[in-house]
Amino acid sequence: MTDFSLALRQVRERISSACQKVGRDPSEIRLMAVSKRHPLSAIQAAVAAGQKDFGENFVQEGVAKIEKLGPAGLRWHFIGHLQSNKTRAAATWFDWVQTVDRARIARRLNEQRPHHAGPLQVCIQVRIGEEAGKSGVDPEQILPLAETICELPRLRLRGLMAIPPPSADMEEQRGYFRQLAVLYRTLGDSGYELDTLSMGMTADLEAAVAEGSTMLRIGTALFGPRPQGPRDGVVPP
Ligand SMILES: *Cc1c(COP(=O)(O)O)cnc(C)c1O
Repeated sequence: MTDFSLALRQVRERISSACQKVGRDPSEIRLMAVSKRHPLSAIQAAVAAGQKDFGENFVQEGVAKIEKLGPAGLRWHFIGHLQSNKTRAAATWFDWVQTVDRARIARRLNEQRPHHAGPLQVCIQVRIGEEAGKSGVDPEQILPLAETICELPRLRLRGLMAIPPPSADMEEQRGYFRQLAVLYRTLGDSGYELDTLSMGMTADLEAAVAEGSTMLRIGTALFGPRPQGPRDGVVPP
């Protein structure tokens, strides 16, 4: 068994026992492997173990990996901060952009999504925990942004995503995730058909599962510590 498949099995066990505690079915939860700063060989091992969803934070690094591995059968999620001069590459190469936080970015992605590719799947990134400077919309801006996205034919709104402030306290983690889950349900109740509540990373996946996450974004627990590159956004050898 490779390191990745062993790690994958351990993560799946964490998900199962977290699900068991709250009576959820683990098959409701999609597992994204966050491969940022890891080399192609690590992703290839993950693909060999059956992993399909991958997350990248930097457009250029992600595109270089997607070009090499091919999109065939894999789903690539952009989960980093998206600058407007990178929207074309993101719209061209990624299947999902989970960090849409302004109308201008949504419109550019819509215009730049290639027509052969089918709609781009998007999540609205929400700022949870009041951390100044963190990306994401404030809760009261979710609905107007959702309205804009739904008028754009090349985008399909799937749900909400957040990166709450790190905390070692499970109750505090759950509190942040509960806030996002309430906003997700409110948006669903206003008539949007959503299926993705993207929350939970290595350190807080149990709390996220307990509060209803449908997509976990896991890096460290699957790939080990991230190599420190000379700078972000470059594919490591
Ligand atoms: C890096 C990253 C992750 C994964 O973090 P780990 O703690 O390594 O699991 C998840 N989501 C986002 C947005 C990230 O940037």
